[in-house]
Amino acid sequence: MSVGFEVLARDGAARRGRLVTAHGEVETPAFMPVGTAGTVKAMTPEGVAATGARIVLGNTYHLMLRPSAERIAALGGLHRFMNWPHAILTDSGGFQVMSLAARRAIAEAGVTFRSHLDGSLYELTPERSIEIQHLLGADVTMALDECTPYPAPGGAVETSMELSMRWAERSRRAFVERPGHGIFGIVQGGVHPELRLRSAEKLIAIGFDGYAVGGLAIGEGQETTFAVLDATIPALPAHRPRYLMGVGKPADLVGAVARGIDMFDCVLPTRSGRTAQAFTRRGVVNLRNARHADDPAPLDPECGCPACTGYSRAYLHHLSRAGEILGSMLLTAHNLQYYADLMSAMQSAIEAGSFAAFSAIFASAA
Ligand SMILES: [Zn+2]
Repeated sequence: MSVGFEVLARDGAARRGRLVTAHGEVETPAFMPVGTAGTVKAMTPEGVAATGARIVLGNTYHLMLRPSAERIAALGGLHRFMNWPHAILTDSGGFQVMSLAARRAIAEAGVTFRSHLDGSLYELTPERSIEIQHLLGADVTMALDECTPYPAPGGAVETSMELSMRWAERSRRAFVERPGHGIFGIVQGGVHPELRLRSAEKLIAIGFDGYAVGGLAIGEGQETTFAVLDATIPALPAHRPRYLMGVGKPADLVGAVARGIDMFDCVLPTRSGRTAQAFTRRGVVNLRNARHADDPAPLDPECGCPACTGYSRAYLHHLSRAGEILGSMLLTAHNLQYYADLMSAMQSAIEAGSFAAFSAIFASAA
């Protein structure tokens, strides 16, 4: 049995579910903190788990370059290497090859590129991406795809999507079945509903343990993202998990859960924590702002994170102005707690059949 998924409750299109992996259960809807280079930046693994998160994302591109998948495998796999006993999903490396690598060339076989670290030459094929994710020991492996740039002409989007579907089939074939481990396919097709539907049909014919929606949140805007989800999600199997890649802002998450998405990842809470931006129940707070300099109140009195229970806005302001590492640590912990609490609140609302009311209250508070 690969990764299991159970839908425990439904409210409209929203789902309350549970993903069962070799490294424990993940309650959904779930947000996955991004652990780019084998670490969620500015957080200990214990701190990540304390927020309630039970799955993190690891980046194939970064780990294959440094310290290498083979070295991590020899040291017992990524879970042991980074001391994270819970579930790990790894991306395929495709997205970051497109965004970070130098001098990349895409062909039918795969993509060749030079490392942004030292210029050395690499080849990433579907088979190699799956092998790397196997070496890392990912609970959830992602098929290699080409992230289509946005905007792009319709013909280019179609050509790119068709290549991704051939890579998806090769990825599926290369994946080694193990109990509690699974592979997700990625729906591509840009902002074109008919291409998205064709992509979904091809992936379903191949057969995956879960289905991701990729190539969104790259500048198309929330309304377009939601329109693509409205066109795509009804075509996906009801009994398998659905993952919206690289999304997003809190309001994006609420809107996507309402449409039937189960899993998310995004650098926003961690990256914002390192630039003094805090997500709160009353909107985004910039702690660099001078109005916090004399404020003895906590950042968010309703939050149970270390930043909110132990420190004042004035102190967090001071840390950020002084460039102290503790400022990044506390605000990252806070932002991940905010995201975890948001997911937990959505889970409860779906169970209670009150997701529409929750969405309305959320929209009016932010
Ligand atoms: Zn907090």
